[in-house]
Amino acid sequence: MRKFKTESKKLLDLMINSIYTNREIFLRELISNASDAVDKLYFRSLTDPDVAVGRDDLAITVGYDSEVRTVTVSDNGIGMTKDELDRNLGTIAHSDSFEFKAAQAEAAAESEPGEAKGLGDLTDVDIIGQFGVGFYSAFMVGKKVRVVSRAIGSDEAWAWESNGVDGYDIKPAERAEHGTDVIVYLKDDTDEESFGTFATEHGLIQLIKRYSNYVRYPIKMEVTKSRKVEAPEPAEGEQPSAPTWESYTEVETINSMIPIWKRKKSEVSQEEYNEFYKTDFHDFEDPARTISVHAEGSLNYDALMFVPSRAPWDMYSKDYQRGLALYSANVLIMDKCEELLPDYFGFVRGVVDSSDLTLNISRETLQHNGQLRAIARRLEKKIKADLASMRDDDREAYERFFEQFGRTLKFGIYQSYGMAKDTLADLLLFYSAKQQKMVTLDEYLADAPTGSDAIFYAAGDSRERLASMPLVTTVLAKGYDVLLCDADVDEFCMMAMGTYGEHAVDGDDENKQPYFIKNVGAEDLGLTTEEEKKEAEEATESNAELFAAMGEALQGKVERVVVSTRLTDAPAVVTSEGGVSLAMVQVLKSQPGADDLPDLHLVLEVNAKHPVFATLQAAHEAGDDGKVRTYAGLLFDQALLVEGIMPDNPLAFAQAVAELMK
Ligand code: ADP
Ligand code: MG
Repeated sequence: MRKFKTESKKLLDLMINSIYTNREIFLRELISNASDAVDKLYFRSLTDPDVAVGRDDLAITVGYDSEVRTVTVSDNGIGMTKDELDRNLGTIAHSDSFEFKAAQAEAAAESEPGEAKGLGDLTDVDIIGQFGVGFYSAFMVGKKVRVVSRAIGSDEAWAWESNGVDGYDIKPAERAEHGTDVIVYLKDDTDEESFGTFATEHGLIQLIKRYSNYVRYPIKMEVTKSRKVEAPEPAEGEQPSAPTWESYTEVETINSMIPIWKRKKSEVSQEEYNEFYKTDFHDFEDPARTISVHAEGSLNYDALMFVPSRAPWDMYSKDYQRGLALYSANVLIMDKCEELLPDYFGFVRGVVDSSDLTLNISRETLQHNGQLRAIARRLEKKIKADLASMRDDDREAYERFFEQFGRTLKFGIYQSYGMAKDTLADLLLFYSAKQQKMVTLDEYLADAPTGSDAIFYAAGDSRERLASMPLVTTVLAKGYDVLLCDADVDEFCMMAMGTYGEHAVDGDDENKQPYFIKNVGAEDLGLTTEEEKKEAEEATESNAELFAAMGEALQGKVERVVVSTRLTDAPAVVTSEGGVSLAMVQVLKSQPGADDLPDLHLVLEVNAKHPVFATLQAAHEAGDDGKVRTYAGLLFDQALLVEGIMPDNPLAFAQAVAELMK
């Protein structure tokens, strides 16, 4: 028996038992080797006139025997001589395929432009092998592996056989044609593991489709089918007999071969893209957008991405896993590679394929995440550009998209503390109270009165209620628009943005300032004249005693009571100081496990022109403290009610109203 040509048996043991997390990938590795062998033969046929093979004749065959418990992967590729069997399968971590690929690349680099013509297109060869360890993964599931191979141009075949422990034998064998069979004798089943499932039709088909669906040569397998047996015509007067079924077998190509993402966009119909999306990403609906990218340069890759029409049901749950499928040379590396997508584009589905990636040895992850990050950055730009063009060119579709995924975009701004603002802010839509439709921030600004320096919004849980809130109607009355934010994430997003765009101050292009994004309930909206401010301050001053009494009645609820500069019809309004709004606290309260709520600093603003104010003044002058107290409470509670917030003590509120009605 020959010994494996690595110093230690431990290395082999390590290869077999430690580098892979997933036993089922052995099939992917054997099929990849078969694909390489076929690729090499095809390449040889381009250069060697003695080797005549048509590309259409090249194939990989997978078979199994559930009795003997074997899985066989065969190819009609280049095959191996006795020496090659010894060298390639006897030396761990020696990859002949890698050397082949390197030699091709060198030849291509050295050849003069016209010279390589006879070789056909070199990119037609897509070698997968790299590390020289994939083959040994067969020993994860096999107690014995037998390889029968006949090299092209040779008339002898050889069989290599090993139990994967201490060595291997090479003996003469028979094989009708060039090519290789790898026969894996499966391990015995244990309580934990059933290796036998690998020797089933269903098990193998699943694995082929999962990992090797886009290998470029047909992977054939004999599959069982059933058909109806035509019953003979019944004789006169006889009942026709029930039809019977018989099963038969047929060789089928299991993989779909053509990686659609490698084809030029102009050569693929939208129907084909839709079909691919629906089948591979399990959706019933066509995608809303299809984004195809072919990058050549320092990093070569192809990507095909889709924006679904509808958010998947688990999109907003913890379990939702974002990511794009990652392929290297048509072989699946990872189902969902998270690093390829930022959270806020997590709804995008698709694949990325690159032969340039340096994979780690198990082909399960990458060695250098720098490559991945570079790809991710470019894909992010592509997605952004695509969404922006949908926003500009197909507004209806964009609004449908935004209904499904707008929350993710808004959440992205909030979650990144505004860092993602540059990418996302101009993609956002909000409902405009003035225009009564969804608008972008740019559209809001385009419509704003000249000299505007702010974007106003109101936040609460219902658009209708917001529209009728005094804080909103007074701003609208002054000719400014208000964005009505009724989603829980809205205000957090607005706060995280803080500002948007910029404008010249007093027509001076050298002096630019951003537009501030302001809640209509904030202290200073910048909409009152100095005169109005002064007037209100004086009125607050001259009613200091009354306001002190009201403030006392509302102790713990408001910081102070003042005369409002902003109200026209409503008697009073509650505003907040210091950036935390009532609506925000409402949202936080509704979150599970919210006990650490931020401090609210509320101010009761009263309308000095409202008859209620005169009533309060009269009560105060008459020394009717009880009435001042009750009215202060009522004003505060009804101001909250208008914003859709329940008073702390609804019963007291109702009793006070009933008392008034007596
Ligand atoms: P890799 O594919 O990364 O090179 P493997 O351990 O999978 O490493 O295979 C080692 C070598 O064995 C390959 O480089 C190739 O030369 C040879 N080999 C494996 N399977 C086949 C096959 N089916 N036909 C021809 N050569 C093969
Ligand atoms: Mg391999």
